[in-house]
Amino acid sequence: MSRFFSTDLKDLNPYIPGEQPVSGGFVKLNTNESPFPPSPEVKKALDESRVSELRLYSDPTAKTLTDAIARYYGVPSDSIVTSNGSDEILAFIIKAFCKDRGLAFADVTYGFYEVFCKLFGVEFVTVPLDRDFKIDVNDYKGLSQNIIIANPNAQTGVYIPVSDIKTLVSENKERLVIIDEAYVDFGGESVIPLTREYDNLVVVQTFSKSRSLAGARIGFMVADAALAADVKKIKYSFNPYNLNRLSILAGAAALADKEYFVKTTAEIIKNREFLTDSLKLMGFKVIDSKANFVLASHGAESGRDLYLALKKEGVLVRHFPGGRIDDFIRITVGSAEELAVLIQKLGIILQGAENA
Ligand code: PMP
Repeated sequence: MSRFFSTDLKDLNPYIPGEQPVSGGFVKLNTNESPFPPSPEVKKALDESRVSELRLYSDPTAKTLTDAIARYYGVPSDSIVTSNGSDEILAFIIKAFCKDRGLAFADVTYGFYEVFCKLFGVEFVTVPLDRDFKIDVNDYKGLSQNIIIANPNAQTGVYIPVSDIKTLVSENKERLVIIDEAYVDFGGESVIPLTREYDNLVVVQTFSKSRSLAGARIGFMVADAALAADVKKIKYSFNPYNLNRLSILAGAAALADKEYFVKTTAEIIKNREFLTDSLKLMGFKVIDSKANFVLASHGAESGRDLYLALKKEGVLVRHFPGGRIDDFIRITVGSAEELAVLIQKLGIILQGAENA
């Protein structure tokens, strides 16, 4: 740390992204990207895009994309704010709404919630998941903080039904409930329609997972227009042109190709069931997931050893050291071919452990 670093940030532990190897050669199942390329419509839109227009700033309202999202979900355009990945909109939301009340979130969830709180000086409390890593919404009763829940939850894949979220928003009218739906398209149901009914609900989504556009960095939120206007104040105080021209085109094209979206998400759900069954047959404990990843542990090998052994075999998965899921590895649901390699390598590793 240099002597110039602001003292109020000296305890900041930044988010650690999963490895993104520059040279290929790995079966990459560590950062919950899609194994499928973006819709062919995305390529068409980008091929037809005019490079000369890159001399101009992008549209700060990202109107083409915003209107496409509004039509897709049947919500007004002024209830939407777009962002450079959903990480950015999460930051804007926490900055906009959480300083006075603080923020409550699960003890096992997306690591960025805590990082943003620390970055913005927001007080937070963590609410333990139960022994099966499930969220009980009753645990959030009686707290005074705003609430953020990833549904399905990050790192576990556990999903809570819309009725639970309805309970949360209707029983906590004076607190904001933020639902991060990064993984909702793999078998969950979005609560975006509830934003028309409740003015204390914010829903966040991303194009990084189910729309195969992690590299384009597209996220958005949907909420009551007054909340959206508040978040726009933060956006326009930070980076009005947060979505670039190419990403706006790519996002709108991806959203228009519903058939491709349905096909690829169905394929991932099918592969998730195959992966879960295969891991269980090998003696893994697998948490029931509605996301594009599964969290699994094996009695014979620690999470860290499995992670390292798989890496040596050319397969990247994610290990979260030190906390409640230290025994586990998180595996992104890849293509059938990628999963076949993973299962084969795991078989070799576990055989080796047995013989050792
Ligand atoms: N929310 C959750 C729960 C996530 O797991 C992720 C992905 N790391 C994000 C948000 C952010 O995704 P992105 O910035 O790519 O939209």
